[in-house]
Amino acid sequence: MSIRDIVILPDPVLKEVCAPVAAVDDEVRALLDDMLETMYDAPGIGLAAIQIGIKKRIVVIDVSKDEDEKAPICLINPEITWTSEDTSTYEEGCLSIPEYYEEVERPAACKVTFLDRDGKEQALDCDGLLATCVQHEIDHLNGVLFIDHISRLKRDRVIKKFAKAAKRGEMPEFKSRRGNEPATERPLAE
Ligand SMILES: [Zn+2]
Repeated sequence: MSIRDIVILPDPVLKEVCAPVAAVDDEVRALLDDMLETMYDAPGIGLAAIQIGIKKRIVVIDVSKDEDEKAPICLINPEITWTSEDTSTYEEGCLSIPEYYEEVERPAACKVTFLDRDGKEQALDCDGLLATCVQHEIDHLNGVLFIDHISRLKRDRVIKKFAKAAKRGEMPEFKSRRGNEPATERPLAE
């Protein structure tokens, strides 16, 4: 297992659409292990393969709050089959857009089908933070970032800030988070 480098905005790879996994083999399982290690190290609660530069439809998530009881979920070729009409708003963050948080409204619940690490078909009913996180991660597989769900003005400002910082070889600085609620891809304790 190894910790991989996370791709940061405005890297154009984040806009690419990922390809389905043809077969869940040992190579895919090794990738899942690296993704989990990278996510826990960040620390984060979700990571898509494209965020480490691999254009495959693979996602790992762990929204469990207890450090000692990890509950990793591995989603291969995930597909959202249903979303609720009810919406909820979470302050989202992204490991590829470090230290930037903004509220995003999404369906409050969803159903997702996927292949697990044994290649078996599975279905999962999601609500709360998990529903938001699943939608955030599956967006990544389609080249969509959470900032694509906020106002154009705010989005342009963030992209500009990251582009400028990247030129200087730095990370942009943002004001500290307002709330203490967990944000997607970022657990409560940072
Ligand atoms: Zn993200």
